[in-house]
Amino acid sequence: MTELARATRGDRRPESLAAALLEGSPTALARGLTWAEAGGERAEALLALTYARGGRAHVVGVTGAPGSGKSTLTRALARVARQRGRTVGVLAVDPSSPFTGGAILGDRIRMNDLSLDPGVFIRSMATRGALGGLCRAAADAVDLMDAAGRDVVFVETVGVGQDEVEIMRVAHTVVVVSVPGLGDDVQALKAGILEVADVHVVNKADREGADRTIAELRAMLTLVPTPPGVPVPPVLRASATREEGIEAIADAVEAHGAALATSGQLDVRRRRAAEARVLAIAGTLIAAALGDPGRGDDGTLIEQVAKRTLVPHAAARALLAKARERERTSHV
Ligand code: GDP
Repeated sequence: MTELARATRGDRRPESLAAALLEGSPTALARGLTWAEAGGERAEALLALTYARGGRAHVVGVTGAPGSGKSTLTRALARVARQRGRTVGVLAVDPSSPFTGGAILGDRIRMNDLSLDPGVFIRSMATRGALGGLCRAAADAVDLMDAAGRDVVFVETVGVGQDEVEIMRVAHTVVVVSVPGLGDDVQALKAGILEVADVHVVNKADREGADRTIAELRAMLTLVPTPPGVPVPPVLRASATREEGIEAIADAVEAHGAALATSGQLDVRRRRAAEARVLAIAGTLIAAALGDPGRGDDGTLIEQVAKRTLVPHAAARALLAKARERERTSHV
């Protein structure tokens, strides 16, 4: 623990926490992430004090179907990053559905060998109920790890559902993990995340059918346009449990990061991510400002729509106008 972190232990002010976090204290980062997860004023204050210091980390998303080996691969990539002298943050975003919920503890245990290294900071996030949504919490958490000086931040999430694809938008480089011999369902899922993939990994290549999956993926990729200056995503094979193919993936991830920077695409992505993030937060703020339109004065608006005496669009505009009016009068 740093001197500053020790001196500010138990001090719950955002200013003290921000100072210790910016110094790189893992304890401060851990607490900051808890704040980020909960959301609200405290989290916002902490972000406000640290945000300007971020923007240096290479944010790497790792996504794929449950059981494809994302956590095993992320752990292996984290180890290689450490060997290359980089500090690492890992954010495992686990949607707390009954389907994958049970895996969270297991992930933590499997990651344990790495957690003995202070150069690796691992955190799971599973709260669907996070104020402002899981995407908001995950994006804030990535920013805190970045501000805390982590060189590489891995964000690992299951590649199903809109939320998870949204989370991937905070990443500069997205690794999509597939496994040999997937059924049609999972192939369809892949189509949804194809557009966000920068590096494809066919994991469990120690199993039969890896060559076919690689060929299928390459064929699919010819149908997806890439922006100028960005190379067609490579399709790499790995066996994460045997730690085979990991160096090549790490190379591809680094090469992608470097290509983004030199082609100007990094700024494009940052802008796009910033826009999506601001819009999402604004959406939450607007929803909060609207309150519960089914109740109180606005209840009649909803009723009118239900009875078809008012079109939904007009009711929505009326609600927004009222929220604006309330906002205006509350500031005078
Ligand atoms: P996640 O749910 O995508 O994070 O997947 P996990 O990393 O938890 O891995 C799911 C299971 O697949 C575990 O039992 C791993 O040991 C296993 N696994 C991961 N990578 C490989 C691999 O390369 N080959 C084989 N045969 N099994 C693997």
